[in-house]
Amino acid sequence: MSPEQLWQAVLGELELAVSKANFLTWLSNTYILTWEGPRVTIAVPNFFYKDYVEKKYHANILKAISRVTEGQVKEVVYKITAGPAPARLLSRHAQAVPAAARAVESLAAPSTNNSQTTGYSQEHLARVSSASLNTRYSFDCFVVGRRTELAHAACQAVAQKPGVVYNPLFIYGGVGLGKTHLMQAVGHFVLKEWPQRRVLYTTCEAFTNEYVDAVKQGTAKEFQNKFRSVDVLLIDDIQFIAGKEGTQEAFFNTFDHLHRNQKQVVLTSDRPPKAIPTLENRMISRFEWGMIVDVGAPDLETKIAILNNKLGEKGSTLPPEVVQAIANLVQSNIRELEGALNKVLAWQQLKGVPPSVEEVKQQLASISQPAKKGALTSKQIINVVCEYFDVPLIEITGISRKKHLVTPRQIAAYLMRQELQASFPNIGNELGGRDHTTAMHAVSKIEKDLEQDQKIIQDIQLIRQRLFNS
Ligand code: ADP
Ligand code: MG
Repeated sequence: MSPEQLWQAVLGELELAVSKANFLTWLSNTYILTWEGPRVTIAVPNFFYKDYVEKKYHANILKAISRVTEGQVKEVVYKITAGPAPARLLSRHAQAVPAAARAVESLAAPSTNNSQTTGYSQEHLARVSSASLNTRYSFDCFVVGRRTELAHAACQAVAQKPGVVYNPLFIYGGVGLGKTHLMQAVGHFVLKEWPQRRVLYTTCEAFTNEYVDAVKQGTAKEFQNKFRSVDVLLIDDIQFIAGKEGTQEAFFNTFDHLHRNQKQVVLTSDRPPKAIPTLENRMISRFEWGMIVDVGAPDLETKIAILNNKLGEKGSTLPPEVVQAIANLVQSNIRELEGALNKVLAWQQLKGVPPSVEEVKQQLASISQPAKKGALTSKQIINVVCEYFDVPLIEITGISRKKHLVTPRQIAAYLMRQELQASFPNIGNELGGRDHTTAMHAVSKIEKDLEQDQKIIQDIQLIRQRLFNS
């Protein structure tokens, strides 16, 4: 049985087990990415799907797959794979989607859904998800502040005339300042204005993985077609292309093709092109062809405006002095600002009264100061590393020595040593019962990498942020 046949059979079973609306929305455009003995990896278009399918349908899927393969498959994992399924993998179900989706009047709302999504038609939602866009990241939900004014204006200009005004548009700035949001807003706008145009959002990391897979599996042509057939290509966190020669070459060719054909490219990065280490000069000059804008940390006024906007979205209220206190406590990162707001709202809901400014300060103490390191555990480190690299826990503690697992494993070892002063036998143990010499090697490997590998430096910095800011 081929993976396609297996998935057809499984979908057949699932179709009977879940409602038609849910089936069309969540399952019909999934496919089997790999099938290796007892393990099947299912491709899902974006995080939104992954989360929902995992929560709601995992048990059904596992049961059906196990039945169809007579118990051979024991494990099912989900992987975000940007863009539509390769044509040969498209199921007959997927092709039925547009017409059938129109017929479906109301779909069960996913748990992660919110007020912004309700204004969209099902067709639009389907396009948004196959473009891998987050429904929340539209211009409507973006609060323009002084430090994002220019980037916002550039994005709007590009959205209105894709491929014509600034190509590429390159947005850079620190973590959590709205780069991903703005770039995706371009995609949303284009899809709304011209439903027939093809928009594709992907991260540099996913692009790299797809490229590497394509080379391995001899599907370079399909890879090429996929990225060359879009009207608007959005690649997030392009700085991670540093040091990856093959991927740079692939990106370079894709970019030139799109640019020649007046297709829009939007890129984000944590730094300007010239500051990306080991980026080839020809790439730097391409990036500089269009427009380069930065986003900066929001001032107090903008933070307050963002908080009020989020309160409006949620239909909640807080006293103005509390809003001001939250804005004051959270330094610059808007993702943290949202986290802080949610924390305060949860408190308010629990107690039934709004908190005082003093109480807000207490609740948010952990956000304004890093968490106590003593509170951290090895398990947390491993979980955060898995989450960051999007690899399953059982793989990082498993036996495979594939590169995409080895680096996360070594980073986890390094962090356990650094943050917890864990012993080498202990680290080896936590990472699936490895030898202490393996743990020692892992730690010294990362220490060496940290002297010159920008990607590792950045990865560790971002993982630390996740560990100490949550
Ligand atoms: P970055 O890509 O720069 O790290 P994101 O675009 O992921 O940051 O933004 C982090 C979070 O903050 C997202 O949930 C986003 O919607 C929100 N956000 C950022 N900037 C704004 C803004 N100006 N108005 C409203 N929400 C914002
Ligand atoms: Mg981002």
